[in-house]
Amino acid sequence: MPHTAQAPIASTAPTAAHALPSYLDPNHLGPWGTYLQQVDRVTPYLGSLARWVETLKRPKRALIVDVPIEMDDGTIAHFEGYRVQHNLSRGPGKGGVRFHQDVTLSEVMALSAWMSIKNAAVNVPYGGAKGGVRVDPRKLSRAELERLTRRYTSEIGFLIGPSKDIPAPDVNTNAQIMAWMMDTYSMNVGATATGVVTGKPVDLGGSLGRNEATGRGVFTVGVEAARLTGLTIPDARVAVQGFGNVGGTAAKLFAQAGARVVAVQDHTGTVHNAAGLDVTALQRHVQHTGGVASFAGADAMAPDEFWGVACDILIPAALEGQITRDNADRIRAKMVIEGANGPTTPEADDILQGKGVLVLPDVIANAGGVTVSYFEWVQDFSSFFWTEDEINARLVRIMQDAFAGVWQVAQENKVTLRTATFIVACKRILHAREMRGLYP
Ligand code: GLU
Repeated sequence: MPHTAQAPIASTAPTAAHALPSYLDPNHLGPWGTYLQQVDRVTPYLGSLARWVETLKRPKRALIVDVPIEMDDGTIAHFEGYRVQHNLSRGPGKGGVRFHQDVTLSEVMALSAWMSIKNAAVNVPYGGAKGGVRVDPRKLSRAELERLTRRYTSEIGFLIGPSKDIPAPDVNTNAQIMAWMMDTYSMNVGATATGVVTGKPVDLGGSLGRNEATGRGVFTVGVEAARLTGLTIPDARVAVQGFGNVGGTAAKLFAQAGARVVAVQDHTGTVHNAAGLDVTALQRHVQHTGGVASFAGADAMAPDEFWGVACDILIPAALEGQITRDNADRIRAKMVIEGANGPTTPEADDILQGKGVLVLPDVIANAGGVTVSYFEWVQDFSSFFWTEDEINARLVRIMQDAFAGVWQVAQENKVTLRTATFIVACKRILHAREMRGLYP
């Protein structure tokens, strides 16, 4: 996996392909390398703002912390944690915290940069940030997980805050973990500060609709793109990689709209049913067993076959670097909706474009989560809470408007939706940068 290597903070990759450590191999750029290529692709469209583009190629701040905890058996374990603030030109840092055994600084840097782009693309008043701990949380007890979360929060405590940098859930983190983070920060500052994190439990300053928001956003842009390209959602065949918060919700919403979810893959296996999987039954199965493997209403499939499944819409909603030059050619979908962050490498982007596959990029397609995080933060500040209908209606409007704007920029410049989203977002960020000017 490319993201297991610690990539250096370099803005270019060398060209030689042999006998190089994987972080220097141009065929395995890793997420930060992927992001840098995406910025290079947008630079010709930035006009005079290109003068500031180097700003986007380096994080503003990156913090590495040691997270020592006492394990239940009395031993001491150390985990490496990160918080990266990529850009704060448009507002406080915003972005999730990921607990995963493959987390690296390079990965968190890329994820923080994609947050900057995403937040600007949907025009919420935030910069971009991200955090992570290199740990497999499935191997921790609940008490160990709580100790890890609290110590990590304390270690990054001087960087975060309701008006400085606001974490949220990401891969393997959830509302309970946000409650522990909120409590730890609050204990340290001596006052309950609900606005320090989003994605909290609803009874603790969380927002209705936040849990489903990313999947709902994925569905919303999918419906918009289908309308613009003449794809009919009822009867469309959908394949989903990742069946967590994002993939599970997106699958459910597409199924409710009459689509057939024909394949689902997660870390436990791949299940397939050309007639359509019962998504509700699959969700129940995952709740009981921890994964999609051995679901009775489907055939098992070899993991690699997933990419060649006959489908109309493919939704990668797991980790980055999944659609590569090795499998992009086998993809039969008409549309790829990126629920995950960074699932497609630049080479795979080119292959998909060559095949006429429409890619709805992460930086717009999965922005529903942070959009409702913004609503949660606003509600916490004003101590006035909205109804779920209000939240969903506002979410859908923001996603539709942002997507329409990006679509138009793509048509005008004859570029992919990814480059179009980067054009919109980078211009917003760099315009803010230019207006603020350099200090001192
Ligand atoms: N982790 C989510 C993302 O990647 C949400 C971040 C947030 O709500 O701040 O967009």
